[in-house]
Amino acid sequence: MNPAGSLDQLHAEIRACVKCSLHATRTQAVPGIGPCPADIMIVGEAPGFNEDRQGEPFVGAAGKLLDTLLARIGLGRTDVYITNVLKCRPPQNRDPMPNEVESCSPYLARQLSMIKPKVVLILGRHALERLLPGQGSISRIHGSLVRRGDVAYVPLYHPAAALHNGALVADLERDFDSVKAYLDKLLAPPPPPEPVHSRDSVPGAPVEKAEQLRLL
Ligand code: URA
Repeated sequence: MNPAGSLDQLHAEIRACVKCSLHATRTQAVPGIGPCPADIMIVGEAPGFNEDRQGEPFVGAAGKLLDTLLARIGLGRTDVYITNVLKCRPPQNRDPMPNEVESCSPYLARQLSMIKPKVVLILGRHALERLLPGQGSISRIHGSLVRRGDVAYVPLYHPAAALHNGALVADLERDFDSVKAYLDKLLAPPPPPEPVHSRDSVPGAPVEKAEQLRLL
């Protein structure tokens, strides 16, 4: 099955999930949205009121700010895969509980392995705690690049936090400018291979087998 096909299947599994008690209070689960595979993946905390109604992540006020920040660095929704640590809205938007995060995390792990992002933008402390446990507080680490294996993670303030505390908007803007610089480096196409010339060959002419071996 192609990667998008199996992602659709995972999304269907998430929509039918009853692994924790949040299924009883949700309108619907919010699996995630975006291309598969994708170079950039964004992970937030949990669906809020609007997301629970519409079935899509980041469609409320925090989502509008996220769209503005993405546009600032030349990106749109169709360039990124977006999801949350929890796929169902906690009542009254309370913090995720540890058992809910445990139940839901296998879905996030499977999304990461299907999307195969090169860069993951971590929005807020709950996503930070899940994806980079023990890395310290978001206020200390925001805007920095943390490499784990083939994946680069960038912790950022959650846009909803900036809606409550306007002073964080400038931090988010600065951090997104850093994200742009990271992406320019990390997603740059590899340089073309050096042409192989022997001393007396014509540049661009095919190199004979024996000559190739001599050059090795
Ligand atoms: N906040 C989140 O963390 N995720 C959403 O999808 C919306 C708001």
